[in-house]
Amino acid sequence: MALSSYLTKDYTTAMTDTATLYIVPTPIGNLDDMSARAIRVLSEVNWIAAEDTRHSARLLQHFSIGTKTLSLHEHNEDKRTAMLCERLKGGESVALISDAGTPLISDPGFVLVRKCRELGISVSALPGPCAAITALSASGLPTDKFIFEGFLPVKTQAREGALSALLDRPFTTVFYEAPRRILDTVTDIQRVLGERNIVVAKELTKTFETYASGSAQDVIDYLTAEPAHQKGEFVVMIAPAQINEQAIPSEAMSLLNTLCEHMPLKKAAAVVASHYDLKKNALYQAGLDAKA
Ligand code: SAM
Repeated sequence: MALSSYLTKDYTTAMTDTATLYIVPTPIGNLDDMSARAIRVLSEVNWIAAEDTRHSARLLQHFSIGTKTLSLHEHNEDKRTAMLCERLKGGESVALISDAGTPLISDPGFVLVRKCRELGISVSALPGPCAAITALSASGLPTDKFIFEGFLPVKTQAREGALSALLDRPFTTVFYEAPRRILDTVTDIQRVLGERNIVVAKELTKTFETYASGSAQDVIDYLTAEPAHQKGEFVVMIAPAQINEQAIPSEAMSLLNTLCEHMPLKKAAAVVASHYDLKKNALYQAGLDAKA
């Protein structure tokens, strides 16, 4: 069956008139998460660019996909990008896959996609597995606004620096961590952020999928309870900082002090409140505290 039979008009056009680069997510553990569309696209493109062709051979074989593969990884991405763009411009279609999950998310592919966009080559991404989004959606932490940090720096000092940025961050932080560093990282989180609520998602979609949550100490207790608890793949999520709604930025406080020299505190508090979008009463109280 042709790809065009179930896809949108734009997509149909892309398949028939314009060669396209397809970004194709693959399972992060459970092969049943491979979508029918992913299988179809991978079967019908001219080339599959894979992060590791030997690793992906098993997946492709499992789904009886016989498309030719070539490698695209962090060490050859520039060279491959030039070659693949030539093929795409020549009318061939290409699918990009990584070892697991969504390409470009802590995986290669950015150089290729950016170049395709620059050259006006059609790029189409299929939705699918991604460890960060899978973990976040089941974490119980706020999802309305979050930041994905990829992997934290490896060196302790740089990692602590990156964690310090979370001290006042009012939304959830999500990052990936390797098993050999997971305990050190959670210990660093405890040192830098105190007993902030965290969730560590392990082995998502696999037999031993686990969510360990609570304070950093609770998660350390889980990780050290058994050697197996530090093995596998991990997503770490950190709850937002509890922002004190009464906290007044220093610039606002400074303006309040200046205005108080020229007008009554009540009026100064109203002006500063409207300028900084703060609560008038909180500013009034802060003004009284400052005078006292
Ligand atoms: N592109 C992938 C994605 O979309 O999730 C991520 C690739 S990144 C190189 C690999 C990291 O993702 C792992 O070290 C781990 O932190 C996380 N990861 C991948 N699969 C996972 C799983 N099944 N459970 C938990 N974390 C996973």
